[in-house]
Amino acid sequence: MKKNLFFPLIPALALTLSGCGSNSTDNKGHQAPVPEREYVIVVHGGAGEMGDKADDPEVAGKYYAALDSALNIGREVLDGGGNGTEAVKAVIRYFEGNPLFNAGVGATISAEGYFELDAAIMEGKDLSAGAVAGVRHVKHPIDAAYAVKTASPHVMLSGTGADRFAEEQGLETVEDNSYFATPRTMKWVKELQAKSKKNGTVGCVVLDSEGNLTAGTSTGGMFGKKWGRIGDAPVIGAGTYADNDGVAVSCTGHGEYFIRHSVAFNLNARYKFLGESLEEAAHHIIFNELNREEGNGGLIAVDKEGNFTMPFNCSGMYRGYLYKEKASGKVFEGYGISEKMIEKQ
Ligand code: ASP
Repeated sequence: MKKNLFFPLIPALALTLSGCGSNSTDNKGHQAPVPEREYVIVVHGGAGEMGDKADDPEVAGKYYAALDSALNIGREVLDGGGNGTEAVKAVIRYFEGNPLFNAGVGATISAEGYFELDAAIMEGKDLSAGAVAGVRHVKHPIDAAYAVKTASPHVMLSGTGADRFAEEQGLETVEDNSYFATPRTMKWVKELQAKSKKNGTVGCVVLDSEGNLTAGTSTGGMFGKKWGRIGDAPVIGAGTYADNDGVAVSCTGHGEYFIRHSVAFNLNARYKFLGESLEEAAHHIIFNELNREEGNGGLIAVDKEGNFTMPFNCSGMYRGYLYKEKASGKVFEGYGISEKMIEKQ
């Protein structure tokens, strides 16, 4: 791969764009929240090489609108008295129904031309987690992941067993796997031989007003994936993790590397046991442990104090945040694709 001369700038930009804004630290080295936030919602819609998506106002506008909708769906749940897990589920359900993203409808396809979906959800309050991998018939894989968490003794179900379980749970299923197709994905069927890097995995992390952290991720996986391949998204500790004593994380990128580096758990561990700030820990993993060639991608994370971060080591990541200040009740929101963020209050 060609060396990117601008690469050294990216870490600095990622630091600037992160939501950690405090100078004071507690005795573990963690940043104290300034100001205190009633809740924090952070979302991603995938990372990768974006081409000129961010520069085309029409294309970028569609993604901005979708990120804004996702954030406000989460906000409505929390303002309406729902908890963080309900917010994460609602946000991811929205993304799964939006063909712009590589999750649910609009998912990327396997080498054999099927849509095989992965999803996970984890609650930091008790480390309970549920995941499904390679499902072909569940309309909303995030609901199936939640059902595994709450209605089964297991953490991860895969393939036909996971589809059967979802059906038994009364979740909405689709008989025809091509339900997940869009004109865009059907075009990809014809391009299966071509080397391509499609992106658009979705994720959401929330710190709610009770101090509970939840993380969720949903994806169609990597374009042209083979032989029942499962990526990082449904692997607890790789693409998804939440711990009330630490952080909630959702990852996107080249899953094989995120699994090898246990990115989500690694971030929680650096924060919790090394006393690194969320931003330092995330930055280290994304830029020093992973890199553009080996582990292209990014993550979103929020810690127990309401700091959040959204670093990526590739040309872009659909991402956004929304938080409510406790004292003023003011809501702050921002979203972006490349370095540039659109921020509003
Ligand atoms: N991480 C996902 C996977 O490897 C893909 C992505 O985020 O684009 O399945």
